[in-house]
Amino acid sequence: MDQKELNWAPGTKILVILAHPDDPEFFMGATIAAWTSAGFKVQYGLLTEGERGVSAAFPDWNLLPEIRKIEQRKAAAVLGVHEIDYFGYPDGYLKGSLELYKRLVAFIRKVQPDILVTCDPNMLFSHGRYVNHPDHRAAGQIVVDSLFPAVGNASFFPELLEEGLMPWQVKELWLCLTNEPDLLLDADAFWKTRYQALCEHRSQIGDPEVLLQRLTAQRGNAQEPYREGFKRIVFGG
Ligand SMILES: [Zn+2]
Repeated sequence: MDQKELNWAPGTKILVILAHPDDPEFFMGATIAAWTSAGFKVQYGLLTEGERGVSAAFPDWNLLPEIRKIEQRKAAAVLGVHEIDYFGYPDGYLKGSLELYKRLVAFIRKVQPDILVTCDPNMLFSHGRYVNHPDHRAAGQIVVDSLFPAVGNASFFPELLEEGLMPWQVKELWLCLTNEPDLLLDADAFWKTRYQALCEHRSQIGDPEVLLQRLTAQRGNAQEPYREGFKRIVFGG
């Protein structure tokens, strides 16, 4: 699918909520770049600061939150994203709670996105090679459960009404990092942009040349356009 076929109005607002710094770039970086270059406004909400992404080169998890936030700011900027909110939950232990649901309901009502994006909570394994990080699955489940029915229903967390956070209707929910995409979006023009954004996550990617080789191998047939897969739910569509 070409993104022009989405028929979104100029200025469409897209909120991407995921678990860790680097998740937006790894899961859907080319799509994000395509969206911002088309004039849509994209912003992130990240539920953790990724402090457990340690390695031999970056062994101190006390230092990682600051390092990773700087990396994330630079990576997002490569994709045309300049607004990032952090929720500060412990990396690796993400679980739903009433407190977190309420914070997310408040956040989504405040941002008022047309499109909400998170990851597929059902992806346990990937391509016969990876176990999906439990935080990714948890983030997807938490965001979906926060969105519906609470964001659009005034009787959930009624105290939010006193803060002016009125019910909000999101038009579409998109799930990235899925084994069962029902939509493949052509993001070929932004494959390199995604790689450049990923390179800003220095604490996570290791050797940029090795990453480039890996991404090139994953891409497969270079004659085919690079596409990123999603599940798409169009409310009332
Ligand atoms: Zn992650």
